[in-house]
Amino acid sequence: MKLEFMSKSQNEAFARIVVASFASQLDPTIEELADVKTAVSEAVTNAIIHGYDGREGIVRIECSINDHTIEIVVEDEGKGIEDIEMARQPLYTSKPELERSGMGFTVMETFMDELEIESQKDSGTKIRMVK
Ligand code: ATP
Ligand code: MG
Repeated sequence: MKLEFMSKSQNEAFARIVVASFASQLDPTIEELADVKTAVSEAVTNAIIHGYDGREGIVRIECSINDHTIEIVVEDEGKGIEDIEMARQPLYTSKPELERSGMGFTVMETFMDELEIESQKDSGTKIRMVK
């Protein structure tokens, strides 16, 4: 499944619901589905507010199901992450003024079984999650 949408905050709920309905073919528990929705929501919000910094851009999501697991890739072509190790630290945020708590990556890591972050400054960020 592939999905492309504009980097607008209104699209965060849309993306979360599309991925959840795709995932429902795996017959997940309510809790598993809630975990997937939360992780997607964090990744998409990051693409919109950090990747594109409020500017217009495209967010892409690709999902696939293999052998009772779902793989979800969330990608932006925004500003990229300079220091991935630091970004993954709980409570690290580059936007404390927006009252972000710096817990997005920690939430993705906790709620999903795998989390990989690929990013390059000025060319974008790709988040791969598996559950
Ligand atoms: P919270 O998610 O709790 O609201 P946050 O978004 O700052 O706060 P994380 O989601 O853990 O925290 O992300 C940590 C940091 O990684 C961000 O503050 C930002 O600097 C950077 N980051 C995350 N995603 C992206 C992205 N798609 N593009 C550029 N930078 C990103
Ligand atoms: Mg975040």
